[in-house]
Amino acid sequence: MDTTSFLKKTISGVTQVEPALTPPTAGGAQATFAKKPKLDSAKSKTRKREIPEGLWTKCPSCASMIFDKELDENLQVCPKCEHHFPIGSRERIHSLVETCSFEEMDAEMASVDVLGFKGVATYKSKLDALKKKSTLKDAVVTGIGKMGAHTVALGVMDFNFLGGSMGSVVGEKLTRLIERGTEGGWPVIIISTSGGARMYEGMFSLMQMAKTSAALAYHAQRKLPYISILVNPDYAGVMASYASLGDLILAEPKAMIGFAGPRVIKDTTQAELPPGFQTSEFLLDHGLIDAIVPRKEMKAQLVKYLDYLASGKK
Ligand SMILES: [Zn+2]
Repeated sequence: MDTTSFLKKTISGVTQVEPALTPPTAGGAQATFAKKPKLDSAKSKTRKREIPEGLWTKCPSCASMIFDKELDENLQVCPKCEHHFPIGSRERIHSLVETCSFEEMDAEMASVDVLGFKGVATYKSKLDALKKKSTLKDAVVTGIGKMGAHTVALGVMDFNFLGGSMGSVVGEKLTRLIERGTEGGWPVIIISTSGGARMYEGMFSLMQMAKTSAALAYHAQRKLPYISILVNPDYAGVMASYASLGDLILAEPKAMIGFAGPRVIKDTTQAELPPGFQTSEFLLDHGLIDAIVPRKEMKAQLVKYLDYLASGKK
């Protein structure tokens, strides 16, 4: 499209002397602009599986072969070396609350493609595929449950859903959970695992940081406890908001936790990073977290903390 004639027409506001010489073809200039080189997915190396799927899993830490059933029974923790494999939000909730005590909140809340995001794949197509593949509607499951004698407002993130990214739904569900906890006078427990804010929702994702933090501030004003549990991996916008605001911050062993990734930090600071940088153990040594709790001990430990936190109220 001839830009000069186009400008002449709009700026002057008077009748155009001559029409654009080349009439824009269907999709003309825009089509050329929108053309982007396709990412060559064929080039990415695919590793061959050495073992039949669904029977055995090789531990990435100690290389031993673990029978999947054994891994399930062991809450996805390697029985040989205690390596913590990722675990789904529902399995995790099941391992923490008293049987049949969990009442899910906002189970049907689902993300909307506000920005009409189009990348290699559209946001909508990604959401649809994930909803089909799992029982999840978004990257967090929230609800009220019992832990020991305590009623708690529990939110558990799921890394399987778009890398546990925080969009409007994650922010809204967690905010409602915190507010429900505040109203009920219950402790709030949030288990976070996330790559950060959800880029598909742009600014709307970033706004969730302020919203969840504000809800937690009201919760704190009522002198109600908030326990944040960090599991591998936990980064960026989530770490920069509710995940690091706990009165008590716990982490699973060897979880990777930080704001920016180690490579970005190394490139920016041009300095060698200390060994074990951004692991739970490193952060415990440097005072960012209060304790490291293995997954299998998490429930018992939480009940202990809740007993302690509630003891002052009686
Ligand atoms: Zn192992």
